[in-house]
Amino acid sequence: MLNLRNPSPQRIVVLGGGTAGWFAAIALRRIFSPNVEIKVIESSTIGIVGVGEGGLLNFIGALNHNNIDVNEFVRETGAAWKWGFSYEGWRTGKEDDRFFHLFASQETPVSRWHERGTWPYLSAMVSQNVDLDNYVQASKLIKSNATQAQAAALVDAQNAGIIPSFHFDSYKLATYLKKVALSRGVTHLDAVVDEVVFDEKGFARELRTADERITLDFLIDASGLSRKVIGRKGMESEWVSFKDYLLMDSAIPFYMPHPQQNPMLVTRAITMNAGWMWQIPLIERVGAGYVFSSKHITEEEAVKEVEQRLGYAIKPHKTLRFDPGCHKEVWKNNVMALGLSSGFVEPLEATSIGQMLEQLLSFERVVVSSQGVVSDSAIREFNEGNLQSWIGIRDFLRMHYDCARNDTPLWQDVAKSPYPESYRALREVWQERMPRMVDVENYAINHWRGIFHPINWMFVAAPLGVLPASAGEMDLRLLTPEKRAEALRYAQEMKK
Ligand SMILES: Cc1cc2nc3c(=O)[nH]c(=O)nc-3n(C[C@H](O)[C@H](O)[C@H](O)COP(=O)(O)OP(=O)(O)OC[C@H]3O[C@@H](n4cnc5c(N)ncnc54)[C@H](O)[C@@H]3O)c2cc1C
Repeated sequence: MLNLRNPSPQRIVVLGGGTAGWFAAIALRRIFSPNVEIKVIESSTIGIVGVGEGGLLNFIGALNHNNIDVNEFVRETGAAWKWGFSYEGWRTGKEDDRFFHLFASQETPVSRWHERGTWPYLSAMVSQNVDLDNYVQASKLIKSNATQAQAAALVDAQNAGIIPSFHFDSYKLATYLKKVALSRGVTHLDAVVDEVVFDEKGFARELRTADERITLDFLIDASGLSRKVIGRKGMESEWVSFKDYLLMDSAIPFYMPHPQQNPMLVTRAITMNAGWMWQIPLIERVGAGYVFSSKHITEEEAVKEVEQRLGYAIKPHKTLRFDPGCHKEVWKNNVMALGLSSGFVEPLEATSIGQMLEQLLSFERVVVSSQGVVSDSAIREFNEGNLQSWIGIRDFLRMHYDCARNDTPLWQDVAKSPYPESYRALREVWQERMPRMVDVENYAINHWRGIFHPINWMFVAAPLGVLPASAGEMDLRLLTPEKRAEALRYAQEMKK
């Protein structure tokens, strides 16, 4: 049992001042009474990872939930609208091969017609091979490279058909969140933590720096890829690796100028010989990077390939290495790992900050609803929910690699890599019918919210051919002739 009531906590420490650490500090400051000190310890010598510049569907909700003014956030972080992703070269490897995964709202006239577990207009579009982005108003602005002001006007008019999110500068975001946290009474120490001291029951009691010993009642390990607490002595936790299913294990980030007049309204994911390149358009620059498999290309070759593709020299920041996966247990006794320390799969679909915010929300629900006295089973269920959420991310990303590109050793190995059993099972039913809630709701168990809706899965599955036109046709057969005609009429209109 975790008892944060008796004795009442004096201090909660967040180890790490990246996006995860500062978001956690702001949430904790809101949850706990002013008598409890919320302290962030970070090291300016170590710094932050400096990537992670795209939010997901839950990002604006998280700002609102934490009483962060969205307009101020935009001004201070160089943020630009993000409405989804543009996938380029995933089928043929060619420049004209593009499809969109948009953050489509479930409140459009198209998605509101939901019958017998399926969405007839979407079934009709899939059956007629019509790109799904066509039904979302925002798609026109994305394709015409609209200005930020035009995009804002469409969002304000509330008929964009989109759940908007943002691209942002990760350094400016950490600085801004720090400013908000400090203004609300969070305390701060710039120091390197050398050691975590646990008591005989396995509870963290003290952090040690070169100069200080800081006692604590609860610890958030937001120490990024250095994973200072989780997985080490005192906080052992099994690592669940996804590397058999997801081959990317390295990334070289760099900045580039905008290739178009205005910042694009989507993150670009462009396939390369040994992986893919992200391009995240901010107001002043594009944050870019080559994510690759180190078994298939060296760092030097990767940089050369990017330069050949862009036509100019780049200045890589550093090379990041990762084993895609997550920790099985992220919460043990009075320690919880959050953000990169808890796990990281790869940048595709920008799931990391989104997953971190879901974890924080779930943590808040458990702590607040148990009024600080948390049972072992609640912690166990929390960990199970967290792991299942990561498994959903793994399967969603694995589907992206279920693609036709097959022209280099990496893409040939991708084609040979196995399916996780849970993804294989989805793939099998989608040969027969369209995705439904029942297919994906098992990724959100124990009161966790799911990150991706079946419509998000459709946006990727249909263009890749994981979801064939025949699946849409099969679902249309469930309808009366009149309704089927109406759905097909709409699909034909979209085709035009
Ligand atoms: C290549 C790549 C691309 C990514 N792209 C995306 C994306 O598009 N979208 C997305 O949502 N996410 C993305 N992510 C993930 C994203 O970067 C992180 O989720 C996000 O930045 C949060 O990081 P963090 O706060 O966990 O870690 P960090 O930003 O690394 O912060 C760690 C903190 O811990 C401190 N620290 C570490 N050790 C110690 C110590 N011993 N003592 C004191 N302080 C210490 C550091 O100083 C730092 O303040 C990407 C990640 C990678 C690697």
